[in-house]
Amino acid sequence: MDTVEEHPHSFLPGAWPFSEPINRLAYISVRALHGGDPVLQVFHDHDGDWQLLHGGATDEDDCKIICLGCAYERDSSIGILSGLPAGWAAYRESPDGPWRCEPYEDDDSEED
Ligand SMILES: [Zn+2]
Repeated sequence: MDTVEEHPHSFLPGAWPFSEPINRLAYISVRALHGGDPVLQVFHDHDGDWQLLHGGATDEDDCKIICLGCAYERDSSIGILSGLPAGWAAYRESPDGPWRCEPYEDDDSEED
């Protein structure tokens, strides 16, 4: 499991909802990280990685590495997805909307 260097976060350790380390490496789309777009799509990859994307993200969108703790710090509403199994994705229409979760195909084998 990939992690980033440990660093402080503003939430209390007891508030951490995920079973994974707080400094677990995750990917976040640049528009969600710097553009102020809310995270509307979350992928828990088949290999265990987390991807946090703004709505309508495509392969063209750049992703940056973030730590899961920083992602949670930015938007604690992703905490409810801590039980999302690997190979599942979650979507919502708006930052206040309910998450809709479903498994998705592993398309790593289709990379060209
Ligand atoms: Zn962090």
